[in-house]
Amino acid sequence: MRKKITIIGGGLAGISLGIGLRRRDVPVKLIEAGFYPRHRVCGEFISGISTDALKYIGIDGILDGMPRHRTSVWYCQGKRSFQSDLPEEAVGVSRYKLDKDLVDRFEALGGELITGTRYTGDDSEGYVFSTGRVRRKGSKWIGIKCHLIDFPLEADVEMHVGKGAYLGVSRVEENRVDACGLFEIRPQIKVPKMELLETYLEACNLTEMSARVRNANKDESSCLGVNAFELGWQPDEPEDRDKLRIGDRFAIIGPFSGNGMSMAFEGAAAAIDPLLAYASGEMEWLDCRDQITLDLKKRFRKRLAISNAIHPFLTDAGKQRMLATLGKLNLIPYNTLFRALR
Ligand SMILES: Cc1cc2nc3c(=O)[nH]c(=O)nc-3n(C[C@H](O)[C@H](O)[C@H](O)COP(=O)(O)OP(=O)(O)OC[C@H]3O[C@@H](n4cnc5c(N)ncnc54)[C@H](O)[C@@H]3O)c2cc1C
Repeated sequence: MRKKITIIGGGLAGISLGIGLRRRDVPVKLIEAGFYPRHRVCGEFISGISTDALKYIGIDGILDGMPRHRTSVWYCQGKRSFQSDLPEEAVGVSRYKLDKDLVDRFEALGGELITGTRYTGDDSEGYVFSTGRVRRKGSKWIGIKCHLIDFPLEADVEMHVGKGAYLGVSRVEENRVDACGLFEIRPQIKVPKMELLETYLEACNLTEMSARVRNANKDESSCLGVNAFELGWQPDEPEDRDKLRIGDRFAIIGPFSGNGMSMAFEGAAAAIDPLLAYASGEMEWLDCRDQITLDLKKRFRKRLAISNAIHPFLTDAGKQRMLATLGKLNLIPYNTLFRALR
């Protein structure tokens, strides 16, 4: 008889952990506020994925057949600046598809799924919180996303950096392209979600890209925005002190890295063994929680620090010009930075 683990939040971190535990015969209940399938604000560009982590969870093969990305082209403040091969192949898959595929696997493995329910309790023993971004008042960022249908691209990935913003555009499954970016909030912009992306692009002096998006065939249901979050370590509120947290609830890396989803998978993989030991009665809850927390801190410390250092080069106008110049001269240590962010 193993103790039950309750996972709060069914994004990538929570569902992956649920699958990993079910594969090891641990009873799991997963409580998710929303429903599947659903679109999420995410660049849907998976890079630096640890195949070991996917295997360990038991979801290797989940990305098979999805578009692969090898080339990128950078536009700085509306001008085509430089192109570069990605140091490592990346994968494009919509969260609409990925989260649904994973949750189907979780249920097929006997996991108990409760959707449409927002957990408000304060239990901590045997509970894992993978509830994603923490709402932070005064945050200056908004993430905006939209799927564009049959949208021509100049390379596998187009990166556009503009005034207080950057946007990544890359292919996902079928004939869809995901355009997703991080923008400094402009409170004066009040438009329907469908027009949010093109309006923000225009406001950031990315006029040509704004026109391309405006004229594109959009999937209206995929046009979304999220705000009130901060990058980096997520706050450990006094009422949360006892809680075990993974995924974005633990730490958020700059979206430009394309590594947030990989961190969600890695965090889930790292939590499996200690949770298995707890469920089998071989480890106390507090030891289990502390072991996982320490492991995640060690794993993610370096990449979060480097992501924070690079972030201004993508959002600050002066630094963007420096980025463009270095890129044209082929002086960006792409491979080194790429490895350091993983
Ligand atoms: C603009 C932007 C672009 C990005 N682009 C990329 C990219 O290209 N590549 C990449 O790898 N990463 C990217 N990311 C990061 C990536 O989306 C996240 O790292 C990843 O989604 C984290 O997964 P998660 O499971 O921790 O959280 P989430 O996917 O946010 O899941 C959390 C879940 O918890 C649920 N929940 C919350 N509270 C409760 C509650 N009380 N009760 C029940 N359920 C609850 C929510 O409904 C949600 O389903 C991007 C992020 C942003 C903001």
